[in-house]
Amino acid sequence: MTKGKFGKFGGQHIPEALKAPVAKLEAAYEKYINDADFIKELGELYSQYAGRPSVLYHARNMTADLGGAKIYLKREDLNHTGSHKINNVLGQALLAKKMGIKRLIAETGAGQHGVATATAATLLGMECEVYMGQEDIERQALNVYRMKLHGAKVHSVTAGTATLSDAVDAAIAAWCASDADTYYLLGSAVGPHPFPSMVRDFQAIIGREIRAQMLAAEGRLPDSVIACVGGGSNAIGTFYDFIGEQSVELVGCEAAGKGLNTTEHAAAISNGRVGIFHGMETYFVQDDAGGLAPVYSISAGLDYPGVGPEHAHLHDTGRARFVAITDDEAVAAFEYLARTEGIIPAIESAHAIAYVIKYAPSLPKDKIIVVTVSGRGDKDVESMARYRGQL
Ligand SMILES: *Cc1c(COP(=O)(O)O)cnc(C)c1O
Repeated sequence: MTKGKFGKFGGQHIPEALKAPVAKLEAAYEKYINDADFIKELGELYSQYAGRPSVLYHARNMTADLGGAKIYLKREDLNHTGSHKINNVLGQALLAKKMGIKRLIAETGAGQHGVATATAATLLGMECEVYMGQEDIERQALNVYRMKLHGAKVHSVTAGTATLSDAVDAAIAAWCASDADTYYLLGSAVGPHPFPSMVRDFQAIIGREIRAQMLAAEGRLPDSVIACVGGGSNAIGTFYDFIGEQSVELVGCEAAGKGLNTTEHAAAISNGRVGIFHGMETYFVQDDAGGLAPVYSISAGLDYPGVGPEHAHLHDTGRARFVAITDDEAVAAFEYLARTEGIIPAIESAHAIAYVIKYAPSLPKDKIIVVTVSGRGDKDVESMARYRGQL
């Protein structure tokens, strides 16, 4: 089976009950992704509602301070709802609408994807139900309230560690049990085909804009594009337009949590093994018995045990390289960007900033780096203050 494969990774590892809904989704995706009316409608949602194109900002202070490569920030934090997630949810919600479906279900960890899905459901006049681990519901009460504010129903998941990975299982089970009027809106470039390709296609707007904005600003392509990697959607969206450009280096930043030599990290490529879960073959953080291991990161958005299959392939072929950033490095980068540029990044995005802080000084001044700021850090301010003992 080569469908939805990236080298040996990806595929469509699904139970019998999902064969029909997944086949229907695949057909709709293939029909609409190149449909001129669909593209036009989605483009209008991006520009009128999400606020695209997002700014490509020349970070002069950071560039001067680090003393190496010239640094640009791709400001996905400026999008409506505060992250890149809106690119994917608007695309998939519009696709669901075209399919005549009126009910969206979604999984969420920290609640960011749940909020974005609830937002898109409201906009397009659909119902929304979100599956969320009980542990996360308690930790992220504000996002639970935001989802409810948009009229979404939040289901508590108590299985396993009651976090994101269990919420994915619960959402897939709910999709299996549901009727044809339910669309599963997956939040990252993971899961069975067509999700990894479809989510990538909706996030690829990030890299296409970077290309155009960089050509306008510098008259050439960047030397490196860098993004944080949870499931990998903002990273593959950043990379995709440049995969065929061998002069552009692609760097993904995973969460090393308390260190790769501990069990408290979420670095699937740097410290995981190939396995099959959540409908796909890719790298996962696993326990000795070959099950999914509990993962940890200070950043809830990177706290997922797997990684999108296209990243696994980019890693194995050497086209992209992946580095791991610890909590401490990410928190320092969170504070650094706030102080040097007056921009508070999401703690997820701070993992990519942290790598730039280490990497840029090693490059000559005529090199250009673009780093994607996947989201804004308002949601993280309280926990960062607590991390520093200031609350
Ligand atoms: C969800 C999230 C991520 C991680 O998801 P990817 O699919 O890896 O992009 C990163 N940054 C922010 C701000 C997020 O909300």
